[in-house]
Amino acid sequence: MIGDPPRLRPKSRLVHGGRPDARSKGPVNPPIVRASTILHRTVANMRGAEAERAAGHRVQTYGRRGTDTGFALEDALTDLEHGHGARLTASGLAANALVFLSYLKPGDHVAISDGVYGPVRRFAKNFLATYGIAYDFFPADGTDLESFLRPQTKLVYLECPGSSLFEIADLPRLGAIAHARGIAVAVDSTWGSGWTYHPLTLGADVSILSATKYLAGHSDVLLGAVVTNEAAWPALDGMAELMGAACSPEDAYLVLRGLRTLGVRLSEHERNARILADWFVAQPWVKRVYFPALENHSTHALWRRDFSGACGLFSVEFGGVGEPVIEKFLDRLNLFGLGSSWGGFESLARPEPWATLRTASPNPAGPLVRFHAGLEDVEDLLADLQAAAATFAEAG
Ligand SMILES: *Cc1c(COP(=O)(O)O)cnc(C)c1O
Repeated sequence: MIGDPPRLRPKSRLVHGGRPDARSKGPVNPPIVRASTILHRTVANMRGAEAERAAGHRVQTYGRRGTDTGFALEDALTDLEHGHGARLTASGLAANALVFLSYLKPGDHVAISDGVYGPVRRFAKNFLATYGIAYDFFPADGTDLESFLRPQTKLVYLECPGSSLFEIADLPRLGAIAHARGIAVAVDSTWGSGWTYHPLTLGADVSILSATKYLAGHSDVLLGAVVTNEAAWPALDGMAELMGAACSPEDAYLVLRGLRTLGVRLSEHERNARILADWFVAQPWVKRVYFPALENHSTHALWRRDFSGACGLFSVEFGGVGEPVIEKFLDRLNLFGLGSSWGGFESLARPEPWATLRTASPNPAGPLVRFHAGLEDVEDLLADLQAAAATFAEAG
């Protein structure tokens, strides 16, 4: 299906993407094809399949390169992101790393958004530096990107919105600046999840998705994907092959199952997050709520322009209360789990390393907690927060 123009409207594409024709005979869902070895009837068939593969066509030749289950997910994600092709990895972080490896070599330089999440910072420090690839962090809203570019810059890498503070970069502007210099642009679009944000239509060459989050949607799968436009495809596909990028067919199947309901889940997560965010804004112990859908968010105007929606993820900056009190408040919550990751059906809370989140722009002045609004009844979530908030009154 690679290369076919999307014909249906987005909600219909979620339902029909990467599936057999609705009028074909057989199961609704593509079956799970487990395989390492793929058999061929004759030597000529075997050589033919290998030649097709070498020519860039996807045919089952060996399980590591994917079977029809993974191919179906690649098709669905390529379609959602308006891309040319997709490769799957065993985790989102493996997809992030694969992108750096695909577009950079020793001697090159990469400009990285200050908004990237911790493990990407660690990758820059412990891998890029070691392998002779220079990097700089530029402010997560993209301000002043030009001053961070060098003749050796080969990649501009962003997470958009930025991790924890959700700054949105002006991607069309950044894309134009980078492309005028022959620099590729990659965006970690996990927050948009192929649904509310489409980096490839806004000036990026590469979109990275941690399908672990909303695409899978049930906190029981790890999977990453990289979707690229046509120009960026050969480098990505070639490196995925060299590095043995692969994922399990079961996990690909579960992500396909999850993505059918991505749209309805995300609108409900957003609805609940908006209500919780409004509640937090009204609390005297809250200094600021970071959620791009709020009008006073620093990049709300870009969110309105470039996104078709939000999701359940937002952060709360506390004011005038110490971390021990905040921890007591979090410990008293019954419906919010304490845990990393997000994008499942459940509500979560996680204290953030607020003082060290950014290095190229200011950090919050006080403790920050990231919340994920799940699919519970929002009245129950509010009641849970309200009961736990007694902690602040008790602390005076
Ligand atoms: C979670 C996450 C990843 C990594 O995904 P894993 O599947 O946990 O490895 C990458 N980028 C962003 C923005 C994420 O939130």
